[in-house]
Amino acid sequence: FVHQLADESVGMDALLRSPLHLAAQPSLPLPPQLYGAVRPNSRGLDLAVASSRAALEEAFAQADVPAVAPADPAQVPQAVQRALAAGHAWERTPVEHRASVLRDAADAMQADLPRFCALLVKEGFKTWGDAVAEVREAIDFLRFYASEAERIMQPVPLPGPTGESNVLRLTARGPWVCISPWNFPLAIFTGQVAAALATGNTVLAKPAEQTPAVALEAVRLLHAAGVPADALQLLHGPGETVGAALVAEPRIAGVVFTGSTQVAKTIQRALAAKDGPIVPLIAETGGINAMLVDSTALPEQVADAVVQSAFRSAGQRCSALRLLCVHEAVADTVIAMIQGAARELVAGDPAQWRTDLGPVIDDDAWSNLQRHLQRLQREATPLLAPSPFEPGTRLLAPQAFEVKSLEDVRHEIFGPVLHVVRWGGDPREVIAAINRVGYGLTLGIQTRIDSRAEALAREARTGNVYVNRNMIGAVVGVQPFGGEGLSGTGPKAGGPHYLQRFCAEQTLTINT
Ligand code: GLU
Repeated sequence: FVHQLADESVGMDALLRSPLHLAAQPSLPLPPQLYGAVRPNSRGLDLAVASSRAALEEAFAQADVPAVAPADPAQVPQAVQRALAAGHAWERTPVEHRASVLRDAADAMQADLPRFCALLVKEGFKTWGDAVAEVREAIDFLRFYASEAERIMQPVPLPGPTGESNVLRLTARGPWVCISPWNFPLAIFTGQVAAALATGNTVLAKPAEQTPAVALEAVRLLHAAGVPADALQLLHGPGETVGAALVAEPRIAGVVFTGSTQVAKTIQRALAAKDGPIVPLIAETGGINAMLVDSTALPEQVADAVVQSAFRSAGQRCSALRLLCVHEAVADTVIAMIQGAARELVAGDPAQWRTDLGPVIDDDAWSNLQRHLQRLQREATPLLAPSPFEPGTRLLAPQAFEVKSLEDVRHEIFGPVLHVVRWGGDPREVIAAINRVGYGLTLGIQTRIDSRAEALAREARTGNVYVNRNMIGAVVGVQPFGGEGLSGTGPKAGGPHYLQRFCAEQTLTINT
């Protein structure tokens, strides 16, 4: 564990120097430089939560999950019309003003952190640790995209002959459709919306059907901070009706989507099929994320990283570890440690402080997992005791199965289910097999050979590679997040290239 502690202190030093984290407000219950970057311990709690526990409990007792009326798909054209009308003024507002509105929203969210956490626990079944981390991430997105917009939206003077001036500048595109998932109903929702608004676009936001209330509260907060009502409109409802009507609207300027690969492709086809301009799509989708463990890896470090990556948030993260590829020489030791650690985890009511895994989001998710586990019971070797499927609870204790080949895992499984496969021989062949599956979101590498980690990362067609640590919880501005191949289009959320995709570019040449 000494090695791991050293790693974390290096990470923390870097964060202390990071302007993003230093910019955080001083009114927090923990040092501002830790903002958004604290990894909760295995109980899902961290110091910040512990110190403000009473505030969180009070907010939970008072929190109401507001009912959100679904939109009628027939309202979509008027909504787009209103967005276009509002867009004219919003686009011409100086970027510094838009940025300051987003910073005000960040301050307001920070001040209201306990209530947003309580909503995430009540509506999204988040544990307290996950809820605090998520509100922090949403705040980081607001501040980060405010600063990024100010940085990239300055006109860039370019060289030219005497008598000619050349300038390159970024401009807003128009109304963006933001379609966000239930697994980060505040952070991803806020990130998409903030990116579009910072760059002068307007927004038609369609949050996941399962979690509209937290999105509604975020929208109220942004409106109160100064975003004009028509520049940010919430259209709640099913993807098949409201989402499809938004995507099909001829006047929308772009779509940003986080969800399944299949739905991303449906959106891409719908955009291509309609008349009118070519509309950009930013898609962040799923993954069959693997961790490669070689024979030099530290078993304790591996076990900790695996348990965090596979089981935290009940595995309901697209970054989560699904496939552990462990070298045969250390496999028995590593598996035994994972078994020991996973048995300590508590699945239960997310409002309880001891809970590590809350329920999975809904009955569909529950029955998909049940089907998958029944198949694994027949075809693979269980490594952990089967979780009792108690009807109505949607609670699943961590599950792990040893499979024969990594090709046996063909689909993304969204839950606390780990597949383990042993390997021997050349690790580059394992990476090549992972690449062949076609997803490319996150990859873990555990080795004490530095040159090997670097070489394998280069071979991997994966957006986020984490060496000798867990592979979830990308920090805004620190670990830009997003994949390639079946995992998405890029650019990466929370990274320096993200906002550019929301903009059109104009080169202005003037004969002076
Ligand atoms: N950004 C999150 C992470 O790094 C995952 C986002 C998602 O699940 O969509 O864990």
